[in-house]
Amino acid sequence: MAEVLVYVDHVDGAVRKPTLELLTLARRLGDPVAVAVGAGARKTAGVLAGHGAVRVLAVEGPEFAEYLVVPKVDALRAAFDAVSPVAVLLPSSAETKEIAARLAVRTGSGIITDAVDVEAGESGPVATQSAFAASFTTRSRVVRGVAVITVKPNSAPVEPAEAAGALEDLHVDFSGTENAARVVSRTPRESTGRPELTEAAIVVSGGRGVNGAENFPLIEALADSLGAAVGASRAAVDAGWYPHSSQVGQTGKSVSPQLYIASGISGAIQHRAGMQTSKTIVAINKDAEAPIFDLVDYGVVGDLFDVIPQLTEEINTRKG
Ligand code: FAD
Repeated sequence: MAEVLVYVDHVDGAVRKPTLELLTLARRLGDPVAVAVGAGARKTAGVLAGHGAVRVLAVEGPEFAEYLVVPKVDALRAAFDAVSPVAVLLPSSAETKEIAARLAVRTGSGIITDAVDVEAGESGPVATQSAFAASFTTRSRVVRGVAVITVKPNSAPVEPAEAAGALEDLHVDFSGTENAARVVSRTPRESTGRPELTEAAIVVSGGRGVNGAENFPLIEALADSLGAAVGASRAAVDAGWYPHSSQVGQTGKSVSPQLYIASGISGAIQHRAGMQTSKTIVAINKDAEAPIFDLVDYGVVGDLFDVIPQLTEEINTRKG
Protein backbone atom coordinates (compact mmCIF):
# COMPACT_ATOMS: atom_id res chain seq x y z
CA MET A 1 0.00 0.00 0.00
CA ALA A 2 1.13 3.59 -0.62
CA GLU A 3 2.90 5.25 2.26
CA VAL A 4 2.05 8.67 3.72
CA LEU A 5 4.59 10.65 5.72
CA VAL A 6 3.31 12.22 8.93
CA TYR A 7 5.54 14.78 10.63
CA VAL A 8 5.36 14.28 14.39
CA ASP A 9 4.91 17.23 16.73
CA HIS A 10 6.16 16.15 20.13
CA VAL A 11 7.74 17.56 23.26
CA ASP A 12 10.54 15.33 24.55
CA GLY A 13 8.76 12.27 23.19
CA ALA A 14 5.23 13.24 24.31
CA VAL A 15 3.21 13.26 21.08
CA ARG A 16 0.83 16.21 20.75
CA LYS A 17 -2.80 15.60 19.87
CA PRO A 18 -2.77 17.21 16.38
CA THR A 19 -0.30 14.54 15.24
CA LEU A 20 -2.69 11.79 16.32
CA GLU A 21 -5.44 13.55 14.35
CA LEU A 22 -3.13 13.55 11.32
CA LEU A 23 -2.71 9.79 11.65
CA THR A 24 -6.49 9.41 11.38
CA LEU A 25 -6.44 11.39 8.10
CA ALA A 26 -3.27 9.68 6.82
CA ARG A 27 -4.91 6.26 7.11
CA ARG A 28 -7.46 7.38 4.51
CA LEU A 29 -4.62 7.87 2.02
CA GLY A 30 -2.35 4.93 2.75
CA ASP A 31 -0.04 3.50 5.38
CA PRO A 32 1.14 6.22 7.77
CA VAL A 33 4.91 6.46 8.24
CA ALA A 34 5.70 8.82 11.11
CA VAL A 35 8.79 11.02 11.14
CA ALA A 36 9.93 12.08 14.61
CA VAL A 37 12.92 14.35 15.09
CA GLY A 38 14.73 15.82 18.07
CA ALA A 39 15.14 14.89 21.73
CA GLY A 40 12.84 12.04 22.71
CA ALA A 41 11.97 11.12 19.11
CA ARG A 42 12.42 7.41 19.75
CA LYS A 43 10.03 7.54 22.69
CA THR A 44 7.14 8.49 20.40
CA ALA A 45 6.97 5.07 18.73
CA GLY A 46 4.57 3.39 21.18
CA VAL A 47 1.87 6.06 20.96
CA LEU A 48 2.23 6.39 17.19
CA ALA A 49 1.92 2.61 16.75
CA GLY A 50 -1.28 2.75 18.80
CA HIS A 51 -2.73 5.25 16.32
CA GLY A 52 -1.91 3.57 13.04
CA ALA A 53 1.75 4.31 12.24
CA VAL A 54 3.18 1.31 10.42
CA ARG A 55 6.73 2.68 10.68
CA VAL A 56 8.32 5.33 12.86
CA LEU A 57 11.45 6.96 11.45
CA ALA A 58 13.28 8.64 14.32
CA VAL A 59 16.36 10.80 14.54
CA GLU A 60 17.73 12.59 17.58
CA GLY A 61 20.67 14.98 17.77
CA PRO A 62 21.75 18.37 19.09
CA GLU A 63 21.19 20.08 15.70
CA PHE A 64 17.41 20.00 16.13
CA ALA A 65 17.54 22.09 19.30
CA GLU A 66 20.50 24.31 18.41
CA TYR A 67 19.22 25.66 15.11
CA LEU A 68 15.89 26.79 13.69
CA VAL A 69 13.88 24.75 11.22
CA VAL A 70 16.45 23.71 8.57
CA PRO A 71 17.70 20.54 10.35
CA LYS A 72 14.08 19.42 10.62
CA VAL A 73 13.58 20.05 6.91
CA ASP A 74 16.74 18.03 6.23
CA ALA A 75 15.30 15.16 8.29
CA LEU A 76 11.92 15.27 6.59
CA ARG A 77 13.65 15.35 3.20
CA ALA A 78 15.68 12.29 4.18
CA ALA A 79 12.46 10.48 5.09
CA PHE A 80 10.86 11.67 1.85
CA ASP A 81 13.71 10.14 -0.16
CA ALA A 82 13.66 6.93 1.86
CA VAL A 83 9.91 6.37 1.55
CA SER A 84 8.68 7.92 -1.75
CA PRO A 85 5.36 8.87 -0.13
CA VAL A 86 2.09 9.73 -1.88
CA ALA A 87 1.59 12.65 0.51
CA VAL A 88 3.26 14.44 3.41
CA LEU A 89 1.04 15.65 6.25
CA LEU A 90 2.10 18.10 8.96
CA PRO A 91 0.13 19.76 11.74
CA SER A 92 -0.44 23.48 11.04
CA SER A 93 1.69 25.77 13.18
CA ALA A 94 4.01 28.61 12.30
CA GLU A 95 7.03 26.31 12.50
CA THR A 96 5.57 23.32 10.67
CA LYS A 97 4.20 25.52 7.87
CA GLU A 98 7.74 26.77 7.31
CA ILE A 99 9.05 23.20 7.32
CA ALA A 100 6.33 22.19 4.86
CA ALA A 101 7.05 25.11 2.55
CA ARG A 102 10.77 24.41 2.49
CA LEU A 103 10.17 20.72 1.82
CA ALA A 104 7.79 21.57 -1.02
CA VAL A 105 10.38 23.86 -2.62
CA ARG A 106 13.13 21.29 -2.27
CA THR A 107 11.03 18.50 -3.78
CA GLY A 108 9.33 20.59 -6.46
CA SER A 109 5.96 19.83 -4.92
CA GLY A 110 2.75 21.74 -4.42
CA ILE A 111 1.70 22.70 -0.92
CA ILE A 112 -1.67 23.28 0.73
CA THR A 113 -1.73 24.90 4.17
CA ASP A 114 -4.32 25.03 6.95
CA ALA A 115 -6.49 22.26 5.55
CA VAL A 116 -9.51 21.32 7.66
CA ASP A 117 -10.00 17.93 5.98
CA VAL A 118 -8.09 15.58 3.70
CA GLU A 119 -9.50 12.70 1.70
CA ALA A 120 -8.32 10.33 -0.98
CA GLY A 121 -9.12 11.41 -4.55
CA GLU A 122 -8.75 9.64 -7.88
CA SER A 123 -5.70 11.73 -8.83
CA GLY A 124 -4.25 12.22 -5.35
CA PRO A 125 -5.26 13.61 -1.97
CA VAL A 126 -7.89 16.34 -1.90
CA ALA A 127 -7.65 18.95 0.86
CA THR A 128 -10.47 21.14 2.12
CA GLN A 129 -9.67 24.67 3.25
CA SER A 130 -11.83 27.35 4.74
CA ALA A 131 -10.95 30.61 2.97
CA PHE A 132 -11.62 34.33 3.37
CA ALA A 133 -12.74 34.17 6.98
CA ALA A 134 -14.65 30.98 6.18
CA SER A 135 -16.81 32.71 3.57
CA PHE A 136 -15.74 29.98 1.14
CA THR A 137 -14.87 26.34 1.44
CA THR A 138 -12.39 25.22 -1.19
CA ARG A 139 -11.26 21.74 -2.17
CA SER A 140 -7.83 21.55 -3.77
CA ARG A 141 -5.44 19.01 -5.15
CA VAL A 142 -1.73 19.33 -5.71
CA VAL A 143 -0.92 18.88 -9.39
CA ARG A 144 2.88 18.86 -9.22
CA GLY A 145 5.11 16.60 -7.19
CA VAL A 146 3.87 15.04 -3.96
CA ALA A 147 1.09 16.73 -1.99
CA VAL A 148 2.51 18.51 1.07
CA ILE A 149 -0.41 19.40 3.30
CA THR A 150 -0.58 21.10 6.70
CA VAL A 151 -3.75 20.42 8.68
CA LYS A 152 -5.30 22.60 11.37
CA PRO A 153 -5.66 21.08 14.84
CA ASN A 154 -9.09 19.61 15.65
CA SER A 155 -9.81 18.75 12.01
CA ALA A 156 -10.17 15.01 12.64
CA PRO A 157 -10.89 12.74 15.59
CA VAL A 158 -8.13 10.84 17.36
CA GLU A 159 -8.77 7.18 16.58
CA PRO A 160 -6.77 4.42 18.23
CA ALA A 161 -5.67 1.87 15.60
CA GLU A 162 -3.01 -0.74 16.36
CA ALA A 163 -0.23 -0.95 13.79
CA ALA A 164 3.32 -2.25 13.72
CA GLY A 165 4.96 1.10 14.47
CA ALA A 166 8.34 -0.39 13.61
CA LEU A 167 11.00 1.96 14.99
CA GLU A 168 13.78 2.70 12.48
CA ASP A 169 16.73 5.05 12.70
CA LEU A 170 16.52 7.83 10.14
CA HIS A 171 19.88 8.76 8.68
CA VAL A 172 20.12 12.48 7.90
CA ASP A 173 22.84 14.15 5.85
CA PHE A 174 22.54 17.79 6.87
CA SER A 175 22.32 20.18 3.96
CA GLY A 176 25.11 22.49 5.11
CA THR A 177 22.69 25.37 5.61
CA GLU A 178 21.25 23.95 8.82
CA ASN A 179 23.42 26.15 11.04
CA ALA A 180 22.51 29.49 9.42
CA ALA A 181 20.20 30.53 12.27
CA ARG A 182 21.10 29.50 15.78
CA VAL A 183 18.83 29.52 18.83
CA VAL A 184 20.54 31.79 21.37
CA SER A 185 18.14 31.47 24.29
CA ARG A 186 14.95 29.77 25.35
CA THR A 187 12.41 30.98 27.89
CA PRO A 188 9.65 28.47 28.70
CA ARG A 189 6.19 29.94 28.67
CA GLU A 190 4.62 30.01 32.12
CA SER A 191 2.10 27.21 32.22
CA THR A 192 -1.49 28.16 32.94
CA GLY A 193 -2.42 24.53 33.35
CA ARG A 194 -4.93 25.02 30.55
CA PRO A 195 -4.73 23.42 27.11
CA GLU A 196 -2.79 25.13 24.31
CA LEU A 197 -5.14 27.60 22.59
CA THR A 198 -4.74 26.32 19.04
CA GLU A 199 -5.13 22.68 20.06
CA ALA A 200 -7.88 22.93 22.65
CA ALA A 201 -11.16 21.11 22.04
CA ILE A 202 -13.01 23.94 23.80
CA VAL A 203 -12.12 27.66 23.79
CA VAL A 204 -13.82 30.33 25.90
CA SER A 205 -13.00 33.84 24.68
CA GLY A 206 -13.62 37.24 26.18
CA GLY A 207 -13.86 40.58 24.41
CA ARG A 208 -14.35 44.25 25.18
CA GLY A 209 -17.59 43.36 26.95
CA VAL A 210 -15.57 41.76 29.74
CA ASN A 211 -14.70 45.32 30.63
CA GLY A 212 -11.33 44.98 32.36
CA ALA A 213 -8.50 42.61 33.25
CA GLU A 214 -10.01 42.24 36.71
CA ASN A 215 -13.05 40.51 35.17
CA PHE A 216 -11.17 37.94 33.09
CA PRO A 217 -11.17 35.44 36.01
CA LEU A 218 -14.87 35.06 35.16
CA ILE A 219 -13.89 33.80 31.70
CA GLU A 220 -11.14 31.64 33.19
CA ALA A 221 -13.54 30.05 35.68
CA LEU A 222 -15.92 29.08 32.86
CA ALA A 223 -12.97 27.77 30.84
CA ASP A 224 -11.74 25.71 33.79
CA SER A 225 -15.18 24.21 34.37
CA LEU A 226 -15.00 22.90 30.78
CA GLY A 227 -11.27 22.07 30.63
CA ALA A 228 -10.99 24.78 27.98
CA ALA A 229 -8.36 27.25 26.78
CA VAL A 230 -8.94 30.99 27.17
CA GLY A 231 -8.94 33.28 24.15
CA ALA A 232 -9.48 37.01 23.72
CA SER A 233 -10.49 39.49 21.06
CA ARG A 234 -7.98 42.06 19.89
CA ALA A 235 -9.90 44.77 21.70
CA ALA A 236 -9.34 42.94 25.00
CA VAL A 237 -5.69 42.27 24.20
CA ASP A 238 -4.99 45.83 23.03
CA ALA A 239 -6.51 47.12 26.24
CA GLY A 240 -3.94 45.03 28.12
CA TRP A 241 -6.56 42.83 29.76
CA TYR A 242 -5.16 39.54 28.48
CA PRO A 243 -1.85 38.43 26.89
CA HIS A 244 -1.32 38.92 23.18
CA SER A 245 -0.58 35.20 22.85
CA SER A 246 -4.29 34.59 23.55
CA GLN A 247 -5.61 36.76 20.72
CA VAL A 248 -7.92 34.94 18.33
CA GLY A 249 -8.36 36.26 14.81
CA GLN A 250 -6.76 37.45 11.63
CA THR A 251 -3.74 38.91 13.37
CA GLY A 252 -3.89 36.48 16.27
CA LYS A 253 -4.27 32.73 16.46
CA SER A 254 -6.52 30.62 14.35
CA VAL A 255 -8.56 28.12 16.35
CA SER A 256 -10.92 25.40 15.25
CA PRO A 257 -12.23 23.75 18.42
CA GLN A 258 -15.28 21.54 18.89
CA LEU A 259 -16.85 24.33 20.95
CA TYR A 260 -16.10 28.08 20.89
CA ILE A 261 -17.78 30.36 23.42
CA ALA A 262 -17.52 34.08 22.57
CA SER A 263 -18.36 36.35 25.49
CA GLY A 264 -18.74 40.09 25.03
CA ILE A 265 -17.35 39.85 21.49
CA SER A 266 -19.18 41.61 18.65
CA GLY A 267 -18.02 39.29 15.84
CA ALA A 268 -15.90 41.58 13.65
CA ILE A 269 -14.68 39.96 10.43
CA GLN A 270 -11.10 39.95 11.74
CA HIS A 271 -12.17 38.00 14.82
CA ARG A 272 -14.29 35.60 12.78
CA ALA A 273 -11.28 34.87 10.57
CA GLY A 274 -9.68 33.07 13.50
CA MET A 275 -12.61 31.06 14.86
CA GLN A 276 -15.26 30.59 12.21
CA THR A 277 -14.32 26.98 11.49
CA SER A 278 -15.15 26.02 15.10
CA LYS A 279 -17.62 23.13 15.08
CA THR A 280 -20.14 24.62 17.52
CA ILE A 281 -20.20 28.34 18.28
CA VAL A 282 -21.95 29.90 21.25
CA ALA A 283 -22.12 33.65 21.88
CA ILE A 284 -23.10 35.58 24.97
CA ASN A 285 -23.79 39.22 24.13
CA LYS A 286 -26.19 41.78 25.53
CA ASP A 287 -26.85 43.28 22.08
CA ALA A 288 -29.27 41.10 20.13
CA GLU A 289 -28.11 42.84 16.92
CA ALA A 290 -24.41 41.94 17.40
CA PRO A 291 -23.01 40.41 14.18
CA ILE A 292 -21.64 37.43 16.11
CA PHE A 293 -25.22 36.12 16.28
CA ASP A 294 -25.17 35.63 12.48
CA LEU A 295 -22.79 32.72 12.80
CA VAL A 296 -23.65 31.08 16.10
CA ASP A 297 -25.24 27.72 16.73
CA TYR A 298 -26.51 28.95 20.11
CA GLY A 299 -26.85 32.56 21.14
CA VAL A 300 -27.56 33.97 24.58
CA VAL A 301 -28.77 37.58 24.59
CA GLY A 302 -27.80 38.74 28.03
CA ASP A 303 -25.29 40.38 30.28
CA LEU A 304 -22.23 38.17 30.57
CA PHE A 305 -21.87 39.14 34.23
CA ASP A 306 -25.25 37.46 34.86
CA VAL A 307 -24.94 34.59 32.40
CA ILE A 308 -21.38 33.34 32.86
CA PRO A 309 -21.43 32.77 36.64
CA GLN A 310 -24.70 30.84 36.30
CA LEU A 311 -23.32 28.80 33.41
CA THR A 312 -20.11 28.01 35.29
CA GLU A 313 -22.01 27.01 38.40
CA GLU A 314 -24.40 24.79 36.44
CA ILE A 315 -21.54 23.03 34.65
CA ASN A 316 -19.66 22.47 37.90
CA THR A 317 -22.82 21.14 39.56
CA ARG A 318 -23.50 18.71 36.71
CA LYS A 319 -19.90 17.52 36.81
CA GLY A 320 -20.63 16.91 40.47
P1 FAD B 1 -16.40 45.24 20.37
O1 FAD B 1 -16.51 45.22 18.88
O2 FAD B 1 -16.37 46.56 21.04
O3 FAD B 1 -17.58 44.37 20.92
C1 FAD B 1 -17.86 44.22 22.29
C2 FAD B 1 -19.16 43.46 22.39
O4 FAD B 1 -19.40 43.18 23.74
C3 FAD B 1 -20.37 44.24 21.86
O5 FAD B 1 -21.03 43.43 20.88
C4 FAD B 1 -21.23 44.45 23.09
O6 FAD B 1 -22.61 44.35 22.81
C5 FAD B 1 -20.79 43.31 23.96
N1 FAD B 1 -20.96 43.57 25.40
C6 FAD B 1 -20.60 44.70 26.10
N2 FAD B 1 -20.86 44.54 27.39
C7 FAD B 1 -21.41 43.30 27.53
C8 FAD B 1 -21.90 42.56 28.64
N3 FAD B 1 -21.84 43.04 29.88
N4 FAD B 1 -22.41 41.33 28.42
C9 FAD B 1 -22.47 40.81 27.17
N5 FAD B 1 -22.02 41.46 26.08
C10 FAD B 1 -21.48 42.70 26.27
N6 FAD B 1 -9.89 41.55 16.24
C11 FAD B 1 -9.74 40.33 16.79
O7 FAD B 1 -10.49 39.94 17.68
N7 FAD B 1 -8.73 39.52 16.37
C12 FAD B 1 -7.86 39.86 15.39
O8 FAD B 1 -6.95 39.10 15.06
C13 FAD B 1 -8.01 41.15 14.80
N8 FAD B 1 -7.20 41.55 13.79
C14 FAD B 1 -7.42 42.77 13.20
C15 FAD B 1 -6.64 43.14 12.10
C16 FAD B 1 -6.85 44.36 11.50
C17 FAD B 1 -5.99 44.73 10.32
C18 FAD B 1 -7.86 45.20 11.96
C19 FAD B 1 -8.11 46.52 11.28
C20 FAD B 1 -8.64 44.86 13.03
C21 FAD B 1 -8.43 43.63 13.68
N9 FAD B 1 -9.20 43.24 14.77
C22 FAD B 1 -9.05 41.98 15.28
C23 FAD B 1 -10.14 44.17 15.43
C24 FAD B 1 -11.58 43.97 15.06
O9 FAD B 1 -11.88 44.76 13.91
C25 FAD B 1 -12.50 44.42 16.20
O10 FAD B 1 -12.20 45.75 16.52
C26 FAD B 1 -12.36 43.58 17.46
O11 FAD B 1 -12.49 42.21 17.14
C27 FAD B 1 -13.47 43.96 18.43
O12 FAD B 1 -13.32 43.26 19.61
P2 FAD B 1 -14.59 42.99 20.54
O13 FAD B 1 -15.59 42.21 19.77
O14 FAD B 1 -14.08 42.43 21.80
O15 FAD B 1 -15.10 44.46 20.86
